[in-house]
Amino acid sequence: MRRTRKQPALDDLQVAFPRAKFFHLDRRDLDDIVETLNQKPRGGTSPYAEALIRLMKRLKECGGNLQKMMNGDPKLAKVVADVCVTRWMPSTNRRAFLVLQPSVEIQALSPMPEPQKIKERAELLAALRFHAGTLNPEWDKLTGPCARCGNYYIKKRESQKVYCSRRCGNTATAVARTRERLDEEHADKLRRSQAAMQKWPTARTKDDWKAFVSKQRELEISRKFLTRAVTKGELTAKGKLTAQGKTFVKEHLQRKAGKS
Ligand SMILES: [Zn+2]
Repeated sequence: MRRTRKQPALDDLQVAFPRAKFFHLDRRDLDDIVETLNQKPRGGTSPYAEALIRLMKRLKECGGNLQKMMNGDPKLAKVVADVCVTRWMPSTNRRAFLVLQPSVEIQALSPMPEPQKIKERAELLAALRFHAGTLNPEWDKLTGPCARCGNYYIKKRESQKVYCSRRCGNTATAVARTRERLDEEHADKLRRSQAAMQKWPTARTKDDWKAFVSKQRELEISRKFLTRAVTKGELTAKGKLTAQGKTFVKEHLQRKAGKS
């Protein structure tokens, strides 16, 4: 007696696999996740990116403890668990594979949702990407946001924790160096101003102190710089530099000089 190959070995186990996208659990999935996280349509944010970023941030807040994240939000845990189904898929040799597939609910989602449905679709797709992501062998390499550009990225080295790329790292360093240099120049200018101000009370001049300082060309200090420095509290004279205080400083010292 010959059994035909098509005869079912077990009744009712003829599952037709719908033609749907499967996850690969390799870089392709991870790249798709990174791309979604970094979506910035016209400089704004995408609801798809936002929903996924919320999940990434939550996981980070839980110190990367996925169990803690899910135990803390059973509703989310159910959504994430239900977005995927695992299917047993026979290969052309003797082996079979377990494959991940989006749930029926996800597959039924319209690719062009009405505006009021976009948020729901974004939440479900974020849960789906998150689900597939957590099963990806390289999931731990996905990190972000980059301290400079704000993008998520796949780490090339374990030590790459702050910037997405050498370019961002170098730019950030250059920016920090420039900042440092400008701060140093600013501090030096303040020191020069302070030194010049000390000479004003006893100087033979009718100018107010700001004019007195800014007229010393070699110092390259403008009146505007002085005003701003005083407003910011970076520059103080002995005595008060209020409208009356300015004269107070000078008169006070003159009186003192007169008495002696
Ligand atoms: Zn970056």
